[in-house]
Amino acid sequence: MYVEMKKIYKKYGDFLASNNVSFGVEKGKLVALLGPSGSGKTTLLRMIAGLENPNSGDIYIDGRRVNDIPAAKRGIGFVFQNYALFRYMTVFDNVAFGLELMKVPKKEIKKRVMELLELTGLSGMEKRYPNQLSGGQRQRVAFARALAPNPQVLLLDEPFAAIDAKVRTELRTWLKEMVEKLGITSIFVTHDQDEAVEVADEIIITNHGQIEQMGSPMEIYKTPSTPFVAQFIGRSTVVEDYEKLKGFDRVPGADRAVIRPEFVKISKSGRLDQYQSAAESGIVKDVLFRGSHLDVTVDVNGVEIVAERSMEKDVVKPGEQVHVLIYRLYVFDEN
Ligand code: ADP
Ligand code: MG
Repeated sequence: MYVEMKKIYKKYGDFLASNNVSFGVEKGKLVALLGPSGSGKTTLLRMIAGLENPNSGDIYIDGRRVNDIPAAKRGIGFVFQNYALFRYMTVFDNVAFGLELMKVPKKEIKKRVMELLELTGLSGMEKRYPNQLSGGQRQRVAFARALAPNPQVLLLDEPFAAIDAKVRTELRTWLKEMVEKLGITSIFVTHDQDEAVEVADEIIITNHGQIEQMGSPMEIYKTPSTPFVAQFIGRSTVVEDYEKLKGFDRVPGADRAVIRPEFVKISKSGRLDQYQSAAESGIVKDVLFRGSHLDVTVDVNGVEIVAERSMEKDVVKPGEQVHVLIYRLYVFDEN
């Protein structure tokens, strides 16, 4: 593991912001810390960076314990949510900032800054000021600035949160490609599940200062270990009386089930192909257009579940009777 957190506890007064957190990030990987606001993501990032110290626990970078090493000596680049560019400095000076502090010779600074501007697609913009750039360009300057001192680890705290949806999507792909190209070990914080799923090699899900689950995006989607995770990654309906659904028996101790809309099929004709034997009937309660598909709420034996229906299928209307097939359901016990 290139970055490793071991049994980290962090308190702010009586509040436990990190509660026994352990995880590792392999060299060259891009890992997302994903969780709701207040779940302790930024706190973890700031401790890795050395901007905050844990009350107990150990932090390792490249096998070296860094708890007592000051931020500036940890070899870390940091990109913040709100650009944090220097407003009265040009793009060139912003990117050069860290190198100037390190007293790197002028000629080398110029070479390095030009390289980075080229890398980040900002060549020709070196004389501009931050207010003459778009949000996406500003975040690329912030990225170039963080990379300038050649850090071994890159930390990004909700880097795209303040950017328009369309540009944000482009930047995600851009970041993924950039990190792969540079091979730099990166950890980025987000509360946006789509962002984490699209960009990260591995996702760490935080909740109330703890880690709920860790794994590849696909693993977490397919085998969520808690209802919280099932609801946070992918979409889901929570059902308590799931034994009313045909083919599903009550599992002792399991008081809830989670059903993903994409694992529910509905049909008007009564034919659900090879799955027909397990299908049962339901009444359409509600139909919602989601831009690319429909979410159809159906009542099956008094249990309401949501089915995702693609646009090429016939439209169903509230009150209609349909055949319903649930082909995957997750059960969870109390905790
Ligand atoms: P996230 O980044 O997941 O939104 P944070 O790590 O910023 O979460 O915060 C976790 C919790 O710790 C929050 O409830 C927040 O209010 C609290 N917290 C964060 N920083 C401080 C601080 N400097 N002093 C007191 N409480 C803090
Ligand atoms: Mg945060």
